[in-house]
Amino acid sequence: MLSPGYSYEKAPDQQHFLGRARTRRLFRAILSNREKNWRFNLSPLFMEFLMGKRTYACTPWGMPTYNIFGWQKPCYLLQDGYADTFDELIRETAWESYGTESGNPHCANCMVHSGYEASAVNDTFGSLSGFVATVKGTLFHRYRDEGALRLLDEPVEHGQQTPLVQIGNTAETLEETRA
Ligand code: SF4
Repeated sequence: MLSPGYSYEKAPDQQHFLGRARTRRLFRAILSNREKNWRFNLSPLFMEFLMGKRTYACTPWGMPTYNIFGWQKPCYLLQDGYADTFDELIRETAWESYGTESGNPHCANCMVHSGYEASAVNDTFGSLSGFVATVKGTLFHRYRDEGALRLLDEPVEHGQQTPLVQIGNTAETLEETRA
């Protein structure tokens, strides 16, 4: 199972979190040109989302978190209060304030499974095109991509981070937040 990291603001090391563009670049390199025997416990369309082949809005209610405090608003990454019941969670959470498109800075670079895999699954079972794409992604999952191979071949200078992710380049960390 794979998911990109979420940029927790309380983490002592902030410079190594990736922006969305860099996350897609990394997953394009990882998930293209797969070996036949690679198996993932993920929706094919979520993996295509990570590879930059499709865009989705966040649906945090699709994978809600329940713990000893109750139902966490709006997702397990953010902690904007708790609801006593699932019904209260759905009715009283300001869902429009979350997701990349909302402009909420906490969501700006998020692509994690808890928000976006539900969107991919909803696409699979909510549209014919999504279902066909899922079947195609299941049967033909090699994703041949010469450009992705070249990403893996980019030279790494001794003592520096790989250009694939450029995690040392903090100036570009937030280069893209809305795609
Ligand atoms: S974008 Fe990420 S942090 Fe924001 S609500 Fe969705 S899953 Fe939670």
